Amino acid sequence: MYVPGEAPESSDFIKLNTNESPFEPPESVRKAVYGESENLNFYNDPDCTELRRRLSEFYGVKPENIITTNGSDEALYFAFTAFGDEKHPVAFPDISYSYYSLYSDVNRIPAHKIPLKEDFSLDYRDYCNLNETIVIANPNAPTGLAVSVEEIEQIVKSNPENVVLIDEAYIDFGAKSALPLIKKYKNLLITRTFSKSRSMAGARLGFGIADEELISELNRLKYSVNPYNINRMTLSAGIAALNDNKYFENNCRKIIAAREYASDELKILGFKATDSCTNFLFVHSDKISAKRLFEELRREKILVRYWDLPRISDWCRITVGTMEQMKILVEKIKLILERETLK
Ligand SMILES: *Cc1c(COP(=O)(O)O)cnc(C)c1O
Repeated sequence: MYVPGEAPESSDFIKLNTNESPFEPPESVRKAVYGESENLNFYNDPDCTELRRRLSEFYGVKPENIITTNGSDEALYFAFTAFGDEKHPVAFPDISYSYYSLYSDVNRIPAHKIPLKEDFSLDYRDYCNLNETIVIANPNAPTGLAVSVEEIEQIVKSNPENVVLIDEAYIDFGAKSALPLIKKYKNLLITRTFSKSRSMAGARLGFGIADEELISELNRLKYSVNPYNINRMTLSAGIAALNDNKYFENNCRKIIAAREYASDELKILGFKATDSCTNFLFVHSDKISAKRLFEELRREKILVRYWDLPRISDWCRITVGTMEQMKILVEKIKLILERETLK
């Protein structure tokens, strides 16, 4: 089962453990939610017509190329259910988003876990001519590393009979999107979310973009399971968010600046950090174990993420917050390292 990152009631914690945005949604989004609340006696539009129309304009595709979902997790779940089964494994990297394993298990789909290289980078050749459904987070979590669009194209092109799902949850923080390939390949599915760059994790809004036929296979599931998967307030919030794109672009720039600052500072303190294109850092130190760093930061009221799992138990994942939060993080880590060496 999935073990979610801690969500403490107390706000004295700086929460850098679940890759949320530190920025609240803009006023326009909050107003849209409030305005829509008066219509809660009516069912919501199961086709999400207006939101899909707006998304299609925004991304330069047709509304038929889009399915909107309750978080992108739901899009992932639909895809695992639609394209994998006991005889059809799903392939994904050994170190990646934990839901890929969970969705395989719950559907009894054999999971073909392909090891990343020693430095956590992905060799695209491992996925070429695989003849299995393929799921790759790009950039990957928790490593933060991205593969190029050219490499993704090789994977998509060499597996024409299978769906290749590229999970672009973190794409707005600097990596290049595979979106232009949608028009060329019928087997490519891209998933996106409003949870990270658009400050709406609690609204639960994601979407998938792909060829029309592929989207209708996902819709068959949606309409059999939960046609009203996106509530009215979230629908309005999503539309309002698309109208306020400058706000989010600006926030992404701030997060990227804070990420580069924190990464540089931690490297000065002797940390290794992967070359993250996301809103989190994946870091390792020879001076302190990752588990101890996680515990000591918690004592200092900063929450980060640590997994006691093979290959990554020496690493911590730290969400990038505001520049102020990153400055506090760096100060606290300095303090913790000093304490460690005094012992
Ligand atoms: C956060 C995340 C998601 C999805 O989050 P939702 O809130 O369900 O949209 C999907 N993939 C990865 C890799 C993520 O980190």
